[in-house]
Amino acid sequence: MQNMAPVTTPQCESMARLCGQLREWSDRRNSLDDWPADSLRLCGQAGVYRWFLPESQGGFGWSDQDQTRGYLRLAESDLTTTFVITQYMGAIRRIAGSEQRATSDQWLEPLTSGTAFATVGISHLTTSRRHLTKPVLRAEETSNGYKLQGMSPWVTGAPHADLYVTGATLDDGRQILVAVDANLKGVRAGPGCDLIALSASCTDRVEFDETEVDRSMVLGGPVENVLQSGIGARTGGLQTSTLAIGLARAAVNYLNDEAVRRDDLRDAADELARELDALEEQLLRATSGTSDCDASEIRGTANRVVLRCTQAAMTAAKGAGFVEGHPVGRWCREALFFLVWSCPQPVAQAHLCELAFGTR
Ligand SMILES: Cc1cc2nc3c(=O)[nH]c(=O)nc-3n(C[C@H](O)[C@H](O)[C@H](O)COP(=O)(O)OP(=O)(O)OC[C@H]3O[C@@H](n4cnc5c(N)ncnc54)[C@H](O)[C@@H]3O)c2cc1C
Repeated sequence: MQNMAPVTTPQCESMARLCGQLREWSDRRNSLDDWPADSLRLCGQAGVYRWFLPESQGGFGWSDQDQTRGYLRLAESDLTTTFVITQYMGAIRRIAGSEQRATSDQWLEPLTSGTAFATVGISHLTTSRRHLTKPVLRAEETSNGYKLQGMSPWVTGAPHADLYVTGATLDDGRQILVAVDANLKGVRAGPGCDLIALSASCTDRVEFDETEVDRSMVLGGPVENVLQSGIGARTGGLQTSTLAIGLARAAVNYLNDEAVRRDDLRDAADELARELDALEEQLLRATSGTSDCDASEIRGTANRVVLRCTQAAMTAAKGAGFVEGHPVGRWCREALFFLVWSCPQPVAQAHLCELAFGTR
């Protein structure tokens, strides 16, 4: 394992080196057995996990725009590792943003240095299993804290985590957000599901069977809609669009490289690059709060662009791109992820309308 100088800005030389290494390793990553431990370790050495926290909490205090620029470059190089990092950082931000000091005192330094790994399982509070009558993960108050029963259906890096940040619902409908040590009694993580893309993210359910968590590990609540109480939430939900745009960039770069030797690709490569540049500009303005475009609008556009760019790359790669192992085939499958990952209902509805009626 090579050593890595800290990445101090999204443009610095060590960032280019980090991305080059991630890109090389990402080509070998296909299955559940390919958890990106090497890439995550390298990112830890390069200080990536410190981009997201203020200096007062051991971070580098990067601005929201620089964090976005950093994520764009990582996602362009290796979507799986970058996606895992977003879930990891989601956990870190919620721990750092909580007033509960016990969890941050114990976990923040090992997590930001990369010696421990945490992840989030919160989709059942927002987008997953919402049509069911009973919450899939329930909490019951005890004298020392809470007892958890049920499961968190989607947890990236589930079998590799030392700590889960998850949400559970009490009988009266209020919710808690809680940090659960993976070694606690009754916690059982699946090994990861075989997915059509990103299998190496080892995403699976985590079950909790009468798991007792101490009150000191409660990061938020009990309250209604605990995720809206602002604990470590990220402004505007632009992160998913950032990763989609990063992946689209990988596809456009491929088209551009091919167009150097193939004139017939030039117009398409230039047009997609222009569109992607404009979208990236809009994303960065939205990140800094200087755009009147809302996050859902950007997400819808990012989803369309990543599907079009990856499929244009497939068209250019022809049959060779359809052979397992070619990066273009992987990018096409990865692009489909954005149709389901935390996709807001209005965006999903708009996609359905376009697919059914052919217009926006
Ligand atoms: C690879 C991957 C990694 C992820 N990682 C994480 C993570 O780390 N942390 C996290 O919190 N989340 C994660 N998610 C969850 C994600 O953000 C979404 O919450 C999830 O994709 C929603 O899909 P679902 O199948 O659970 O939705 P559901 O709404 O539960 O739909 C599942 C099924 O239920 C049925 N259904 C849906 N709606 C209705 C209805 N109204 N009436 C009747 N039946 C219905 C349909 O048959 C549908 O196929 C991940 C998702 C994926 C795919």
